Amino acid sequence: MNVLAIGCHPDDMEINCAGTLAKCVQRGDNVTVCHVANGNLGHEEIMPDELRVMRAKEAQNAGALAGIKVVTCDIGDLLVNGADFKHKDLVVDVIRSTQPDFIITHAPNDYMPDHVAVSQLVFDATFMASVPHYKTAVPGKAAVTPIYYMDNLAGVNFIPTEYVDISNEIDLKMEMLECHVSQMKWMREHDHIDFAEFVKTCARYRGLQCGVQYAEGFTQCLAWPKIVPHRLLP
Ligand SMILES: [Zn+2]
Repeated sequence: MNVLAIGCHPDDMEINCAGTLAKCVQRGDNVTVCHVANGNLGHEEIMPDELRVMRAKEAQNAGALAGIKVVTCDIGDLLVNGADFKHKDLVVDVIRSTQPDFIITHAPNDYMPDHVAVSQLVFDATFMASVPHYKTAVPGKAAVTPIYYMDNLAGVNFIPTEYVDISNEIDLKMEMLECHVSQMKWMREHDHIDFAEFVKTCARYRGLQCGVQYAEGFTQCLAWPKIVPHRLLP
């Protein structure tokens, strides 16, 4: 299968679905990660132009650890707009290029505007990408793709309906997260927040809910014709 994970920032997939994506690679799927925003405002001291380049590299390093291809729409932080057709077209092109069997993205009620905007862009783009006479930079069309929403940050207001056991992938997930040095190191040194512990705790909590050591939780986007009668997640 072809799997596409579309998150907002370069580290969002590591936080909420990297274990699942690693499992997809292990079962033979082609996995692509796309971060829509470039993360250029994610630091108090490093200037945006420099941080944009750093974070692109960090995301590449994380993806390489798991055999995942990483691409970006390179939109500036806080500028992602769910109603902007230029932004929709960028996502349509990623979908048409990768021909995914399913997409993982943010839930519509996650914690910050760029995440919510990405969720909207993906919902709209999955339909638009299927319309052959809707022309964008990438020719052709894609099937109307099933969407899975990954957990909200800290699991707030998110009740998973599907779980993926990532007990064997938790170490890899944490290694991938640590590739985001500008975020992890910065939070430890400046805010005294151990974000690794934060992420691992969330995975442990989802694991408790489904009887394994570590898990990631998802819900399926229930909209016709995006529903399939069989499990797509690993
Ligand atoms: Zn984010």
